[in-house]
Amino acid sequence: MSSVTSPASAARQEVTDFKGRLIGPEDGEYEEARDVYNAMIDKRPALIARCADPDDVAKVVRFAVDHDLPLAIRGGGHNGGGLGTVDDGVVIDLSPMKTVEVDPQARTVRVGGGCTWGEVDAATNEHGLATPSGIISTTGVGGLTLGGGLGHLTRKCGLSIDNLLAAEMVLASGERVRASADENPDLHWAIRGGGGNFGVVTEFTFRLHDVDTVVAGPTFWTVEQGPEVLRTYRDFITAAPRELNGFFLYGSVPPGDPFPEELHLRQVSGIVWCYAGDDEDAAAKEMAPLLEQLPEPLLHGPQAMPHPALQSAFDGVYPKGDQWYWRADFVKEIPDEAVDVHAKYGAEMPTWKSTMHLYPIDGAAHDPDSSDTAWSYRDANWGSVFAGVDPDPANVEAIRRWSIDYNEALRPYSAGGAYVNMMMDEGQERVRASYRDNYDRLASIKATYDKDNLFRVNQNIQPQT
Ligand SMILES: Cc1cc2nc3c(=O)[nH]c(=O)nc-3n(C[C@H](O)[C@H](O)[C@H](O)COP(=O)(O)OP(=O)(O)OC[C@H]3O[C@@H](n4cnc5c(N)ncnc54)[C@H](O)[C@@H]3O)c2cc1C
Repeated sequence: MSSVTSPASAARQEVTDFKGRLIGPEDGEYEEARDVYNAMIDKRPALIARCADPDDVAKVVRFAVDHDLPLAIRGGGHNGGGLGTVDDGVVIDLSPMKTVEVDPQARTVRVGGGCTWGEVDAATNEHGLATPSGIISTTGVGGLTLGGGLGHLTRKCGLSIDNLLAAEMVLASGERVRASADENPDLHWAIRGGGGNFGVVTEFTFRLHDVDTVVAGPTFWTVEQGPEVLRTYRDFITAAPRELNGFFLYGSVPPGDPFPEELHLRQVSGIVWCYAGDDEDAAAKEMAPLLEQLPEPLLHGPQAMPHPALQSAFDGVYPKGDQWYWRADFVKEIPDEAVDVHAKYGAEMPTWKSTMHLYPIDGAAHDPDSSDTAWSYRDANWGSVFAGVDPDPANVEAIRRWSIDYNEALRPYSAGGAYVNMMMDEGQERVRASYRDNYDRLASIKATYDKDNLFRVNQNIQPQT
């Protein structure tokens, strides 16, 4: 490539029979194409390759290698740290790859690498089935799954990776392979938590569960009652049956339906429930031991709804285009001293969209051993996230400061690392701590499949030398 030829022009000449679209800075659609979910991320790739199929992906991987260009992989573009894009490099944008094929007999679903969870949940729900995903329907299947995948069904069905039966991949060499228990099992082990470090996943196959209608919704108490709620919650949820999931939060009541007007924008503590069954009475019976110990809530809203309705319940509050800064931690126990720290920062949320969640990662997520997949923290009970969010760029420093200060004040009570999908750019030591004893094996597998670290725009596992 001559110094005057842009990567996009070079790609148009060299990447032959490309079925998707090659977009460079000179193209009208470039501004829209470079946009990711977090408006704080403002990167300018040299080439955005919207790939239509695995052959397109393989061609772009080879092009990036040949031209020594940094490469990012984009699934749903939701990554908080902006790891689905890169300055002056190549973005493999998988968004055109939208196949969703449910096999109700085998109870599996095959999912194209560019799908979002809303697309998958809608298709599987037609058969009364679901696989565990996250809590916002616009999140990409790719990034969420490869980092672990926690959400409303974690306690009953495990993490997304615990249901990932197989993946079709394009490696750094451009070669296409399958990763499953029988084929390239080391790769299958590594991608279940190891993120996009090992190749581009063009198709996922997930196990499905009988989850159709769920009983879901929030219970809110005042923010001042937060410590009492959190102390009761921490002891209750870890002993609750697996059907019952509930994450604790500090947040604000959204200013719209279905919430009563007098609660709009009120800061609250609360629990967002998901009972994986359709029986409202059975759900109420399981929640009762907690509710009986606590004061009358401001609102108690769980009700029967289709699983996809729960999965998209937060979409309106968190559309694309807000400023996001978040930090995270794995948590084994929540001692009273930690509850006090939560009380302080929970009452100091800088904007109404800012929130702290404690997602349960026990129940079925504890069934595998720490070394069974790359996800090492099978002994942690929660993944915490401190999300500073606001539409206004003027508030970036306030949301960033709150998130960092909250997270750091709780570090003495952390299990060690954090969920890689909810980290920002926090340095190599933090990545290593998040994989713990699995890091060295990951680094060795990385050396086998990507020795030159082509796939490094991620929470990076460095190839063992
Ligand atoms: C509003 C919001 C809600 C969220 N809720 C949850 C939740 O409930 N549970 C949860 O677990 N996480 C949640 N997350 C975190 C989410 O898992 C990460 O942000 C994840 O990176 C998003 O995946 P993506 O495909 O949309 O991201 P992208 O930005 O497209 O990609 C992020 C990373 O994933 C890799 N990647 C993506 N697709 C592929 C692929 N097909 N092959 C190889 N590598 C790939 C890329 O290398 C990149 O490093 C949430 C994030 C947001 C912003």
